[in-house]
Amino acid sequence: MEKEKSLQNIFDIQVAKREYQKNNKAKIIRPLIFITPLFFLFSLLSWSQYQKVLSLRSTNIIDDGKILGHLPYLEVSKNKLVEIQPDILVHKDMFKSLLEMKKEAEKDDIYLVFLSGFRSIELQKEIFYSLKSIRNQNASERAKVSAPPGYSEHSTGFAIDIGDAQNRATDFEVEFEETKAFKWLKRNAAKYHFVLSFNKNHKSVDYEPWHWRYEGSIDALKIFEQANRGIKIY
Ligand SMILES: [Zn+2]
Repeated sequence: MEKEKSLQNIFDIQVAKREYQKNNKAKIIRPLIFITPLFFLFSLLSWSQYQKVLSLRSTNIIDDGKILGHLPYLEVSKNKLVEIQPDILVHKDMFKSLLEMKKEAEKDDIYLVFLSGFRSIELQKEIFYSLKSIRNQNASERAKVSAPPGYSEHSTGFAIDIGDAQNRATDFEVEFEETKAFKWLKRNAAKYHFVLSFNKNHKSVDYEPWHWRYEGSIDALKIFEQANRGIKIY
């Protein structure tokens, strides 16, 4: 009887030991089961995005990475976009600054209106190719007024086209520079970290007084670093 009991004890201890090891393994494996597919999915998405830009860059590319005067840009992920006006999405990093700028302008009786913010590479493709054929322009003529798909600052979510709510006839027109809104922007936009992307000295892209980009976050600065380096040679 005594012997039987002690045997039972040994058996109990062994079973308990095995259970402990099992639980410990499960603790490590269980999170891995959730994390591993997520990691692969994330890698796959980043890779496909990278390939998309590479394939766009492989056609007609000039050595400095530019195509028809435009630099290549990746498309921002949807979760970084917020709606600033019905149907107009912008990068969440610049949302506050942009609204603040609009409010400050109103104090001076200037009413800014947002015309276009984020545009997907797919939408840019439609704009670039459909307008080009409607206007019977070739690609390089069209690139003066619209970026080729994969090469628009609008894909980053950090670009905004601005108009004057009191002078809508100048929307997307060079005459926008005559408006009170543009003059106000020239004086004040830098306070809110906005800069004019295509100024009068740009060699291959037409002057766009309505098109501003945000450079008030590290992400934005990284994205536009090359554009800013190139500014000296425009
Ligand atoms: Zn624009």
